[in-house]
Amino acid sequence: MSDPRDLLRSYLRQRQELGEAELVLDRLSTAELQALLGSTPAPASRAESPAARPPAEPRRESAIPPRDEPRRESAVPPPSAPAERREEVEVHVRAGAPVPGSAPHPPSPRAPAAYVNAEEISSLPVLSEVREIALGCPRCGLAKTRTHVVFGEGSETADVMVVGEAPGQEEDRSGRPFVGRAGKLLDLVLLASGFRRDDVYICNVLKCRPPQNRNPQPDEVSACSPYLLRQVELVQPRVILAFGTFAAQTLLGTDVSIGKLRGRTHQYRGVPLVPTYHPAACLRHPAWTRSVWEDLQRARDVLDLA
Ligand code: URA
Repeated sequence: MSDPRDLLRSYLRQRQELGEAELVLDRLSTAELQALLGSTPAPASRAESPAARPPAEPRRESAIPPRDEPRRESAVPPPSAPAERREEVEVHVRAGAPVPGSAPHPPSPRAPAAYVNAEEISSLPVLSEVREIALGCPRCGLAKTRTHVVFGEGSETADVMVVGEAPGQEEDRSGRPFVGRAGKLLDLVLLASGFRRDDVYICNVLKCRPPQNRNPQPDEVSACSPYLLRQVELVQPRVILAFGTFAAQTLLGTDVSIGKLRGRTHQYRGVPLVPTYHPAACLRHPAWTRSVWEDLQRARDVLDLA
């Protein structure tokens, strides 16, 4: 089965046939996810919730049923980053859905090493060397509070680069980006749009977790930006997906809200950049998942046109 969406479709059918029709993700039913994928849900099982909806037409526009329509105030994204940051929100991925990338043995934390300046970072020839320098980075105060540097991972020749905000608790513990609850939703929305996690490159603006998931500070962003810039230069993605206010605003050098930035393709140093809501924001506002899916279709179109 080569199309990753087929995998997701068949997983959802299986769960539904086993009677798990009610919730797959927070506020998303198997039927809704299948509608999102444009496929027909399996017949209702005994255990199906009375609230479960009839099969939705496989229309792109109506992928997320009206139950999740945003209330008026939530139709406008939050004015600033904190509401959509790395919150401790629950994702109910049931029945052992395979979550790609759960690392059983996190790497050992490293002590901060020698200071390497931005110019040196920008001339490092390969990602493995940039990573090596980043893992011992002493360039800002987060070097003292982090457990692991979360450099990024994925295909180093990826067409798609995913950029998030900063590691959260799980990422700090494991040394890997987007492995917590928001990361699980990220995997699903990527998959639903035909992008396998293994085929994209995933990183963050900040490589170290701000204590208590507070907002990144400007000095931390500027200390960390040479790494992100070099990652973009070396991976040479054909499209960047900026997830969340912070990633989009930082990369685009603007303070315009994510609600206004999304829906258009921007440019970051000559690379098309598609901004969208952060998966953590979608966990709080499930209706926004549809917008994320639409934005990912935009990224797909960018790739197809290139
Ligand atoms: N949120 C992010 O922005 N990045 C991560 O890696 C995890 C959560």
